Amino acid sequence: MFIMDYTAGQGWHDGRIVPYGPLALEPSAMVLHYAQEVFEGLKAYRGPDGGVQLFRPMENVRRINSSCERMCIHPPPAGGGRPWPPLSSSCAWRPAGCPPSRAPPCISVPFIIATTPSLGVHAAHDYLFCIITCPVGAYYAEGINPVKIYVENEDVRAVKGGTGYTKCGGNYAASIRAGERAEQNGYAQVLWLDGVHRKYIEEVGSMNVMFQVGDTVLTPELTGSVLPGITRKSCLELLKSWG
Ligand SMILES: *Cc1c(COP(=O)(O)O)cnc(C)c1O
Repeated sequence: MFIMDYTAGQGWHDGRIVPYGPLALEPSAMVLHYAQEVFEGLKAYRGPDGGVQLFRPMENVRRINSSCERMCIHPPPAGGGRPWPPLSSSCAWRPAGCPPSRAPPCISVPFIIATTPSLGVHAAHDYLFCIITCPVGAYYAEGINPVKIYVENEDVRAVKGGTGYTKCGGNYAASIRAGERAEQNGYAQVLWLDGVHRKYIEEVGSMNVMFQVGDTVLTPELTGSVLPGITRKSCLELLKSWG
């Protein structure tokens, strides 16, 4: 895994690749109490030439920077049109014993947590940026077959002005209860409705939604409560280019 530290006054420093293992944190580390945290998820695939390809990684850099801005975290350095320095090499990692030609798709999860030991609600002075990587299979047990989606009309995931547009752990924590209920009733995922009227479609648990009606494709607007998915953006760009 890759680790880098942030210290107020010093900025991001000491980036290093170390064996995967537990992180040492103070029990009073602010992330554990106030959830000052952001993350990303990048898929890596093996290309036809045997090389490793990340899907539009700079979009993830832009999104984590926007999540950081909302959460008062200094974004880690990325520049020159390339994602954070270690990512290009981290996506080439593969499970021990797995030959390169058999490497499955991998997911890289960069995340930043507030580590300052302080029991007071304010922006932390110390952060940890970490990137872990692991192989992934199909997102749903059903693979690419249709899944049953539960329309949630009690809990809401996000509201305008909140943190719905960021990838932060708190959004997911708030979504767990509805997810559990859906699962107990035989559904694969939750479809979230807007937090005010509980009537307008927002998105599914961890993905945006699109509907085809005749020749038109519809998807909710990005007004602050919906996560701006890179898949969503790519689909809209493709649909436009196809006329
Ligand atoms: C990550 C995420 C998505 C999808 O984003 P992609 O960039 O397309 O992978 C959609 N909704 C939520 C809530 C998410 O966390």
